Amino acid sequence: MPYVAVRSSATAEDIPEASFAGQQETYLNIKGTNNVLKAVQKCWASLYTARAIYYRVKNNFHHESVYIAVVVQKQIQSQKSGVIFTVNPATNDDAEIVIETGFGLGEAVVSGSIMPDEYILDKGTLRLRNKVINKQDWLFTLDNNLGYTVRRNIPEDKRSEQKLSEFEIKKLGELAVKIENHYGSAQDIEYAIEGPNIYIVQSRPVTTLKKSLSAQKNEDISSEPILKGLGASPGIAKGPVKIVLNVNDLPNIKKGDILVAKQTNPDYVVAMKKALAIVTDQGGITAHASIVSRELGIPCVVGTTNATSILKNDDIITVDGSSGKVYRGEINIKQVESEKERYGKFGPIETVTEVKVNIDLPDFAEKAASTENDGIGLLRLEMMIASNGIHPIKYIREGRDNEYIEMLVNNIGKIASFFKGKTVWVRTSDFRTDEYTDLDGSENEPKESNPMLGWHGIRRSLDDIGLLKAEFTAIKMLHDQGLTNIGVMLPFVISIDEIRKAKQVMTELGLDPCENIDFGVMIETPAACQIIKEICDEGIDFVSFGTNDLTQLTLGIDRNNEHIAKLFSELHPAVLSLIKSVIKVCKEYNVETSICGQAGSNEEMVEYLVKVGIDSISANIDAVDRIRHVVARTEKKLLLGFARREYM
Ligand code: PEP
Ligand code: MG
Repeated sequence: MPYVAVRSSATAEDIPEASFAGQQETYLNIKGTNNVLKAVQKCWASLYTARAIYYRVKNNFHHESVYIAVVVQKQIQSQKSGVIFTVNPATNDDAEIVIETGFGLGEAVVSGSIMPDEYILDKGTLRLRNKVINKQDWLFTLDNNLGYTVRRNIPEDKRSEQKLSEFEIKKLGELAVKIENHYGSAQDIEYAIEGPNIYIVQSRPVTTLKKSLSAQKNEDISSEPILKGLGASPGIAKGPVKIVLNVNDLPNIKKGDILVAKQTNPDYVVAMKKALAIVTDQGGITAHASIVSRELGIPCVVGTTNATSILKNDDIITVDGSSGKVYRGEINIKQVESEKERYGKFGPIETVTEVKVNIDLPDFAEKAASTENDGIGLLRLEMMIASNGIHPIKYIREGRDNEYIEMLVNNIGKIASFFKGKTVWVRTSDFRTDEYTDLDGSENEPKESNPMLGWHGIRRSLDDIGLLKAEFTAIKMLHDQGLTNIGVMLPFVISIDEIRKAKQVMTELGLDPCENIDFGVMIETPAACQIIKEICDEGIDFVSFGTNDLTQLTLGIDRNNEHIAKLFSELHPAVLSLIKSVIKVCKEYNVETSICGQAGSNEEMVEYLVKVGIDSISANIDAVDRIRHVVARTEKKLLLGFARREYM
């Protein structure tokens, strides 16, 4: 059965020049009668999305006068593809042809998610007048195992290559002239190149010349970004800048603003909830602020180095959280389909390796629960603490432990109530001393020169034992309410002594670790990896890899430092070998293994983890459905590999 592309073509009666480009849906790599029928129906339905209705109202088209055709074409598995304009849309020069080309399927160029190569030809002679070669890091392609389109990284040495050969440029130029002559008007043509063959997959009139690109794709994407950083949370947002230099500026953030700050601390979370997007000078993608923006589902670009000096209050900007770019003005960048849209439509998939979800805030519990998950692999307390506005140490120092406990019971209880019958692993608090300086009561926090390596995690909780007691008491109260699916884990463990002491506190409060409550530790220091045998001997139910810290500490790379972010890789062989050896020991002890760091949302890492025998993966809310597919595919590959051995 062949793969096909199911594409919409909408037009308005009496207005033949209206192309309605980009307004309706296209589905690539569809296979099987049922899937084709579904895709066709979805194309029809896309005539009535909010976006399409808005477009018609704005352009004064009557809804009834718009028609849609759905075209089913053989899917071209292109290595290169793109768009040709038989008139230069940037200058309106009809003596020029402009060819844009990207690697892989055409979606990347058409959606404006990549910067394509641009070749400008003289229409009369087809001589090349100019070319701009742009680096492309990833492409869309068919995954033969999964049977649908996936995003793949391009090998480093191919990324900067010129995409079209001289022959292909000339051939495309000839075809463009032929097509324009045939229709008798300037055309916008889509093509795909598979092996030696060039396919023309679409042609439509260029309608309003100056506006053609913005209507059909992304006119302004060709404009240079004013800032480049790390894409920490995907999505596109446009709006006015509000610079936040310190906590006093936070109240200035109104709904719909773009928060621009040197760095965002988790205690900005209330303002972050109002912001449309976030841009920072500093930070890496595992910084807590990045984690929050992913959970909030708002676009975030971190580590631009100079956003707060380049941007001014009320500047209008467009933030692309996928590519990590920021543009001046309002730019039309089509949103790449969200992970939920892309993967959620395939329905439940059984996997042996469990797939769990990370969560921080009760507001997102329902969204997290709507994923295909097997429970919560990490419930962080830090974000709910930040939202609450009061530093927990203030409660403890003022003897107001009950208020802290009440806040925890309410918030954890609300989250856990969405996950009845599934395990929910709550981590005791792990706030760095520099992260919560704007919370009421943080005045007495020490000024550490290196808070990442400082007084946080279990070492802090044992020193400020009231904190640990309050957190365990909250969990005990929730157990007493019947939420016995809640387990606990300890962060930043480096010694058996820490585990022993924490267990003792639990026992005193009526929680029996490993007996009436799931008990585990985070493996996020090389020390914990080295003493994993002793940790297992001490008695634990599970471990969970905190790869954000484990990578930072193994490689000696500050996870929040944008200058060295390019060196931060959880896939470094040193990190992988630590993980593998811990899993091996845990298997001997029947201790469950899991991961809750950002790498649990990384496909390559997940494939590795499944291969070396991890029991569960906990991913970000928006990545759970995708990760379940990766897990399923890897498990199948393992089984197939095993089954095929006898034929080799
Ligand atoms: C980690 O270090 O990977 C982790 C999950 O903990 P945090 O990001 O909160 O430090
Ligand atoms: Mg950590």
